[in-house]
Amino acid sequence: MNKELLLKKYHNIFADTSLDSGVYAAPGRVNLIGEHTDYNDGFVMPMAIEKDIKMVIQLRKDKKVKAYSLDYDKLVEFEIDNLLYDKENIWVNYIKGVIDELQKMDKKLQGFNLIFTGNIPQGSGLSSSAALEVVTALAISDLHKIEIEAVELALLAQRAENNFVNVQCGIMDQYISRLGKKDNALLIDCRTNEYQLVPFENEEYQIVICNSKVERGLVDSEYNNRRKECNQAVDFFAEKLDRNITALRDLDLDTLQKYREELSETVYKRAHHVISENQRVLAAEEALEENDMDNLGKLLYASHESLRDDYEVSCEELDLLVDLASQQKGVKGARMTGAGFGGCTVNLVNKAFTADFVEKIKSKYYQKTNLKADIYITNPASGARKL
Ligand code: ADP
Ligand code: MG
Repeated sequence: MNKELLLKKYHNIFADTSLDSGVYAAPGRVNLIGEHTDYNDGFVMPMAIEKDIKMVIQLRKDKKVKAYSLDYDKLVEFEIDNLLYDKENIWVNYIKGVIDELQKMDKKLQGFNLIFTGNIPQGSGLSSSAALEVVTALAISDLHKIEIEAVELALLAQRAENNFVNVQCGIMDQYISRLGKKDNALLIDCRTNEYQLVPFENEEYQIVICNSKVERGLVDSEYNNRRKECNQAVDFFAEKLDRNITALRDLDLDTLQKYREELSETVYKRAHHVISENQRVLAAEEALEENDMDNLGKLLYASHESLRDDYEVSCEELDLLVDLASQQKGVKGARMTGAGFGGCTVNLVNKAFTADFVEKIKSKYYQKTNLKADIYITNPASGARKL
């Protein structure tokens, strides 16, 4: 939805308070490479996508917040100094969480009206939740003339999700939604929170995302198992070696190989994925710097195999999508992206073949699964901004 239409919708619902107002947007993201590395103090490399959440917001004279979700067609009202978790309207908790974090920083807020809409598919691993937090944080802070640096704002949005929504996410999603830049990916070091833009502007190749439409069912319980297994590997090596090992980030493949016999097969495989995936992220960064799509594509395939065989977080449908992609003309690489067990794949496709790719993948995937994949073609987009 464009800015003008959203403003029109705003004025249909709310009376003009004649106070300051603005329109803001924050994008979703796709993780190009670096999966399940974030909680192992490793590297990730997402890019912002050309899908976002847009929000119109206007200050009020009182302490009320009136929030209208266009996509749920629902108005929720609350007092700014009485924030309670809303079991019925989950979406409003992301907004309340941001308000809560701002107030914890002693920022004095007044009430406001807001309306928002988005086209990031929800719960598909493209991080609609971070986009909602980031757009809310940017909108409220800008209207109140509260200066918050980009990184601080991303961290505040993450805390909103951790503390109020009660989802223990890492920093990747909020970082990229705030710091993303057109024609760039973002390399993030999840140990230090340092980041670096990586140019991704290729004449020939672009990113195509395939949404498997499989609900990410097993994610929570399996996620906890994987974290435990990673910790087991860390504990083993911390005890074994006279070194300061606090995360899988501190290990290399040679060391892992040397002690393979002493680890359970499962723990070995989990560690193997994380350590090799970190190497692939750094190699992918180099490939992008050199505009080397061949190499980038190979790294995507290798990442998928590692997630499928070593980390065991893929599923039949994601494997099928990657398999089908690998058989299409003009495809350099493909892999599952996000936590796994459903969600999306990310594909590196020659622009001349994308139309054909979309058609073929949709029909072949449907034939085999009876599911209708959604496919999004996107260039690296810019991060959150005022429109
Ligand atoms: P993901 O971040 O992978 O898309 P999450 O489960 O973390 O999935 O976040 C999805 C939630 O974010 C939705 O359940 C909803 O509460 C909120 N949300 C995202 N987009 C919108 C939207 N356009 N309108 C209202 N709520 C939204
Ligand atoms: Mg999310």
